[in-house]
Amino acid sequence: MGYTERVLEQVRKKYAYQPEFLQAVSEVFESLEKVIERNESLYEKEAILERITEPDRQIMFRVPWVDDSGKVRVNTGFRVQFNNSIGPYKGGLRLHPSVNLSVIKFLGFEQVFKNSLTGLPIGGGKGGSDFDPKGKSDREVMAFCQSFMTELCKYIGADTDVPAGDIGTGAREIGYMFGQYKRIRGLYEGVLTGKGLSYGGSLVRTQATGYGLLYLTEELLKCHGSGIDGKIVAVSGAGNVAIYAAEKAMQLGGKVVTLSDSNGWIYDKDGVDLDAVKEIKEVNRARLSEYTKYRPNAEYHEGRGVWSVKCDVALPCATQNELLIDDAKELVKNGVQAVCEGANMPTSIEATKYLQENGVLFVPGKAANAGGVATSALEMSQNSERLSWSFDEVDAKLGGIMTGIYHNIDDAAAEYDMKGNYVAGANIAGFAKVVDAMLAHGAC
Ligand code: NDP
Repeated sequence: MGYTERVLEQVRKKYAYQPEFLQAVSEVFESLEKVIERNESLYEKEAILERITEPDRQIMFRVPWVDDSGKVRVNTGFRVQFNNSIGPYKGGLRLHPSVNLSVIKFLGFEQVFKNSLTGLPIGGGKGGSDFDPKGKSDREVMAFCQSFMTELCKYIGADTDVPAGDIGTGAREIGYMFGQYKRIRGLYEGVLTGKGLSYGGSLVRTQATGYGLLYLTEELLKCHGSGIDGKIVAVSGAGNVAIYAAEKAMQLGGKVVTLSDSNGWIYDKDGVDLDAVKEIKEVNRARLSEYTKYRPNAEYHEGRGVWSVKCDVALPCATQNELLIDDAKELVKNGVQAVCEGANMPTSIEATKYLQENGVLFVPGKAANAGGVATSALEMSQNSERLSWSFDEVDAKLGGIMTGIYHNIDDAAAEYDMKGNYVAGANIAGFAKVVDAMLAHGAC
């Protein structure tokens, strides 16, 4: 048994109860095999794989808050500071009932490689809570966010750990958390990203993950002889990433025909009306089932089904494990050319392999959705300078970073005789820089 397999075995035994984390580690290790083989004795002596799979620290805490009826409610808060070899911890806060330590560890582990891929000096971390903002009043959300930050503020800071948004954490939640941090610590600093424009936010941050996904997808398609223009695009999700992915896909000439939320999905063969979707999701915080009121000719279906639609490009932008093997088979049968992940780990390992074996261009989230964290790092730079850059300036930087990431992962895959395997390319390119820094820092 080689070094990689031995460490994978140890991690599997030790964390058998953390399936999402194990899925992420298995996927990364599998594609790093050739890189590790080249340096096996050094990496083994320095325990690189053991260290890279064990977070620097994991913070878990009680979050008590009072609901509108006066009752005390209790959630669990998490912050996993995974690896700060190349910069302060950076990664979002997820507020969703499905959050547990396994989910936060998988996201934190992926974040280490993603952040490295951006080329910017940011380490990896992730956090959140099993609190569900859905159906809560503004006052309840504020009470939760203030209580959450009352504990979290002891562990974060502009130069140590800079959280951001994720599922369930949008501009409203970031605002409440920033207010509480400022109040307790007495510091006005860039401790969170995704902030409002009036208090240190960056232009383009709202759009960044979705737009960045499309900048990368466009470059990928161009390098394979076409572009988004004229393509049918299937998008899942109806949150921040999905909405702005759809917007940029349309601006580039694509026709977006689907979106989904956790209850169901819409199919609009004439192309989705994004103004209607923004009103439903961003203004009214309502369900996608409302969409047919705006567009009577569109279809709304309960449950899953986005990937059954014929499309050229598929962009999963909702959550982990939402594109499974049967979905991959359906997409291939319908002639899909490219699948680029807007969400984190939306495609199962089995589905990923099937797509790759059937000649589909597949780019994993850690590369394709890195535009969000990259723009967060640009927000940190602006906060440090105490300056704000224009929309066009940030957008141009984002475009440059995303096309750079595509070529970086393409080159890394080719260097190890895996041309076109962007999963391997992303892991190899992200890993190399982090390991270099870890080796330089010695045993820590
Ligand atoms: P949002 O909360 O804004 O939107 C998430 C969307 O996915 C919603 O439409 C939600 O439906 C749907 N969804 C969530 N959970 C499930 C589920 N279990 N089953 C089906 N649908 C679900 O989150 P974001 O758009 O910010 O994040 C989406 C993905 O992108 C996540 O994987 C996130 O980690 C990743 N990501 C986000 C970044 C960002 O900048 N925001 C950066 C990089 C990655 P509903 O409305 O019903 O809740």
